[in-house]
Amino acid sequence: MAIVVLRELRMELSEDFGPGDPVSLIEAVHAAPADPDTPGDVDDQTFCGKPTQDMERVNYRPAGPGASWLPPNMRPWECAACARALHS
Ligand SMILES: [Zn+2]
Repeated sequence: MAIVVLRELRMELSEDFGPGDPVSLIEAVHAAPADPDTPGDVDDQTFCGKPTQDMERVNYRPAGPGASWLPPNMRPWECAACARALHS
């Protein structure tokens, strides 16, 4: 099964972001199954049941079978529920 990695971004009302690191806006990193009907597209829900429509797709593919679904630099934001679903 193909997996799509998605970033849930924090909804900030302030526009005072400045030139800072956008990584600080990440709320969590989720995984979702690829849409079986539309190759290259993502299903409506993540593995933890959140809607994918407001999430930003992460351009990342695991290096191979057994490799983590999570980009190594995004480990601090790993969604525990998605991780559990993927390991079971
Ligand atoms: Zn999740």
